[in-house]
Amino acid sequence: MTDRLPHVIIIGAGTGGLCLAHGLRRAGIRVSVHERYRTRGEGLLGYRVGIGPTGSRALRECLPPELFDVFLATCARSPRYFNVLTQRMRRTASFTLRPDTDPVNTERSVARMTLRQVLLTGMEDVVRFDQEFTRYEQRDDGTVTAHFADGTTATGDLLVAADGTHSAVRRQYLPHAVTRDAGTINIATRIPLTAHTRKLLPERVEKGISLIFGTGGMMGVLHVMEFPWDRDGALKPGVHPADAELLQRWPGRAHDPTRDNINLIVWSTARRFPADVMRLRGDELIQLALRLTRTWHPNLRELLARAEPGSALPIRVTTSEPVPPWKSSTVTLLGDAIHTMTPGRGVGANTALRDAALLCRQLRLAVAGDKTLVEAVADYEAAMLPYGFARVADSLNRSGTNGDDRMYKPVVGRLALLGARGYFGVTSRVPRLARKFVDDFYTYRGEED
Ligand SMILES: Cc1cc2nc3c(=O)[nH]c(=O)nc-3n(C[C@H](O)[C@H](O)[C@H](O)COP(=O)(O)OP(=O)(O)OC[C@H]3O[C@@H](n4cnc5c(N)ncnc54)[C@H](O)[C@@H]3O)c2cc1C
Repeated sequence: MTDRLPHVIIIGAGTGGLCLAHGLRRAGIRVSVHERYRTRGEGLLGYRVGIGPTGSRALRECLPPELFDVFLATCARSPRYFNVLTQRMRRTASFTLRPDTDPVNTERSVARMTLRQVLLTGMEDVVRFDQEFTRYEQRDDGTVTAHFADGTTATGDLLVAADGTHSAVRRQYLPHAVTRDAGTINIATRIPLTAHTRKLLPERVEKGISLIFGTGGMMGVLHVMEFPWDRDGALKPGVHPADAELLQRWPGRAHDPTRDNINLIVWSTARRFPADVMRLRGDELIQLALRLTRTWHPNLRELLARAEPGSALPIRVTTSEPVPPWKSSTVTLLGDAIHTMTPGRGVGANTALRDAALLCRQLRLAVAGDKTLVEAVADYEAAMLPYGFARVADSLNRSGTNGDDRMYKPVVGRLALLGARGYFGVTSRVPRLARKFVDDFYTYRGEED
């Protein structure tokens, strides 16, 4: 590395990009983040993201310690159970998850909007909104210039694509790296958590993550999201005094409209949805979800009927094709920009965070003079590609996120459904198998010994 500190340009102020920006700034590396959204509140970010040990460890490594504590304090109540339900809300399995006493080795429920506000905290001078990246140029002097739709440019020593599934950087840098439709569609909804909606849920469902294996290939997942603040944004009684103090001081609260809610997502193979589903919004989408779940328990249907119309969102599930290694340079990629995965195992954001921490570690070595910047990028890519695409493959083959899954076939689908319910049922009832299931869950999500 030269004696001049590098300047890193990050495209995209999402989960991975902002985590990297924090890490680089803490390491004294100059960084700017360019985001197409116009404001810090724009975008449909009201949904849950599960952050496991891999993601929490990366956040602890990159964020200033007090901000990591704010992250912990802003999480929703952690799930205590992992349940498997039928569409009639009969519990076929329930596993007890571990308590959330450890800051890293636990499974946390995080609101996307809240996480975004946490990650934007203290980054006002680094993040530039309303800057849609259009193309870059790599120069012979080792610099790289990013061009934005508003006609402005930014020049630095490294360009990092953290611009998500439809990455414009990837399109230019690795045009052969493609994403593809996984063949399933989700309808995501958010229902306000009130005394009434809470009563519609059995206790283990209210306190857990519940996967719904419905007949006819209709699947669902339900999470209850309860935060330390009430509907007016005031801290609830009983919040730990240390958390209360942190949250009182945290300026991000003023930007975060997240309130207690129930996330209910229903999904199936795309063949079950009308051709125009991606254009539907609001009440039309909720009515569609209700039509697709006619045989579901009345309480689940009441929840859908009570969903906030503005929250209903169709999501076409996407995956990516493995990319052979390329010759590293002054452009690199992280997160969904390189390895978009289906939500089957809930690890896309965790993997983006892992990438950010790894890239940051490598760039610190370059700054320390242990390797050149491009060598650091090459070492990052050599490690990231295998684990990233392994997660892509695992995710596609889990939880029916692949539209070609047996679950969605006319006759074998019924057998596949019975097989899946049977597997979870037996596993949860035999203590040795249940323990192994829970151990494997945390190991996969990156628990440390
Ligand atoms: C239904 C669903 C549930 C999921 N649940 C989980 C879960 O429980 N756990 C988990 O780990 N993962 C989950 N994921 C995956 C997770 O959401 C993603 O993997 C993660 O957000 C990727 O982070 P990222 O930083 O790579 O991209 P993003 O967070 O998507 O950020 C990309 C950013 O780039 C910006 N951008 C895009 N184009 C441009 C441009 N041209 N110029 C400037 N800025 C641009 C975007 O506006 C955005 O802010 C889920 C995904 C889905 C669809």
